[in-house]
Amino acid sequence: MGRQTPQPASQNPASPNPASQHPARREGLEEGHQADPYRLNRKFDQPSTCPDCQASYHQGHWSWQLPVPGAPQHRCPACQRIRDRVPAGELTLSGAFVSEHYGEILGLIEHTEAHIRQEHPLERLIEIAIDDNHHQAVLTFTGTHATHGMSEAIHHAFGGELEAAYPEGSTPLRVHWRR
Ligand SMILES: [Zn+2]
Repeated sequence: MGRQTPQPASQNPASPNPASQHPARREGLEEGHQADPYRLNRKFDQPSTCPDCQASYHQGHWSWQLPVPGAPQHRCPACQRIRDRVPAGELTLSGAFVSEHYGEILGLIEHTEAHIRQEHPLERLIEIAIDDNHHQAVLTFTGTHATHGMSEAIHHAFGGELEAAYPEGSTPLRVHWRR
């Protein structure tokens, strides 16, 4: 249309070169990817105990150590995500194999989730939503590590195709497995 966009009043020769803002913005995005609001911006007393799952916070991380009697209670980031219904990752399983072998798949899911949760207390399966015909199951997780771990365990055990869409901003990691 040839219309001139008015220049912001602040854009005078003394302002920083706008071109230099691009790398800074990228950096900001990368930092944003690391800066999980459920893990940072929170200062917990040490030791403290999660009232929902009984995990213990000590020396800067959550573990399954027995709660210290009388320790203050703070909800852990995994339980907070579950309460807020904000999964960090989602794995969709679809295809005829899912309905034909649902029992086997479920057994592997249970085994794998117990293993991941034991090693990484904040990495958990939130729920499995399955359609009536068992053609598609959607698993949600409190962490991306659990999402990847479960996807790889299913792929390793049953073959099929795995596809991951890398998250932008605060959207969850989405992985799709088909067979
Ligand atoms: Zn908890």
